[in-house]
Amino acid sequence: MTSRRRKAIIRRRIFIALLVAILVAIGALGYLIFKIAQNDPTENEDSSEITSVSSNVSEPSSEEAPTSSDVTSSKEEEPQEPEIITTPTGVELDANFGRLLLINGQNALPDDYDTKVRDYLVEIDPKYRNNNYVTQIHKDVYPYITAMVAAAQADGVDLRVWSPFRSYAIQNDLFQKQVNRVGGDEAKAATVVARPGTSEHNTGICADFNMASDAFESTEMYTWMCENAQDYGFILRYPKDKQHVTGVIYESWHWRFVGINYAKEIKELGVTLEEYVEMKNLDPAMDMYGDDSYKQ
Ligand SMILES: [Zn+2]
Repeated sequence: MTSRRRKAIIRRRIFIALLVAILVAIGALGYLIFKIAQNDPTENEDSSEITSVSSNVSEPSSEEAPTSSDVTSSKEEEPQEPEIITTPTGVELDANFGRLLLINGQNALPDDYDTKVRDYLVEIDPKYRNNNYVTQIHKDVYPYITAMVAAAQADGVDLRVWSPFRSYAIQNDLFQKQVNRVGGDEAKAATVVARPGTSEHNTGICADFNMASDAFESTEMYTWMCENAQDYGFILRYPKDKQHVTGVIYESWHWRFVGINYAKEIKELGVTLEEYVEMKNLDPAMDMYGDDSYKQ
């Protein structure tokens, strides 16, 4: 083989090698461009999504701690899950249901309450009461008060509802009579008979039993109530030695529905509703009219 021919072969080999290298380079470049063209927008979207998602996440995540604690605390404040108990006479009641509305001389009901509350009232069956003058109670309270009276009667105790709901007009009559009785002193009268709009009776979520007099304290009905009322959601609303808190004289006959678990806790703590509402930092006007979702 001549050196010329050998050189020609080498040149051809170099040329082929260069050609292959260029083709590989073009191929690689093309692939790279294709990949970039294909992936770029997606990658940008993804990353912007990630950015926006992470910014979305990071924003609420700073609120996340209070949000989750809010959920926890609201669960504690509002025991929405029913806790069904069965009374000795076979009535099923929800121990978690409650009405903590606070009404007193400082926390009056709105003027139009007297009209609005009528939608929530039901007639008490005569077998549970001993008064034909006032006969209605709030529907939320009806299953509890009738179960309580039935249980007392089953125990041989003649507990009866005497005075449940009273309209503003009836309350005003009672208040004016009391004002006359104490020689025109309205403030003094209000410690015995509340002014219209400041009486729990205007809501239908309380009741006087058997008789509205001190004689009730020495009856077996009162003894039975002291032992059992909390199991039906009722508390002695105006206890002895608490007039400075409630603004009302001791009334052994006046019992207020708050709910079974609330009544048990309030009794155990030995506090009035005023003290309980303050202790738990509750809105005094909570549950103003009742829980519409509640079925009696
Ligand atoms: Zn009363």
